[in-house]
Amino acid sequence: MHPTEGELQALLDGEVREPLRGGLERHLVICETCTDRFTALAVSLSVTEHALDALGGFSRALDVEQVLRLASR
Ligand SMILES: [Zn+2]
Repeated sequence: MHPTEGELQALLDGEVREPLRGGLERHLVICETCTDRFTALAVSLSVTEHALDALGGFSRALDVEQVLRLASR
């Protein structure tokens, strides 16, 4: 099952606690659809590279460069 928009936003905000957080991150790593949703959300919220780094392991699966490029438009 895909995470909700609210769950993705909470993850970006660092408001998700384990074990839900780990579950969301694992889902994003394997699910291209949700990675795209998450990227679009990150862009719309203009999150910083620091915020993406704070997501730890998941940020490596995300194209941080692309997010920042889109966010700076
Ligand atoms: Zn998904």
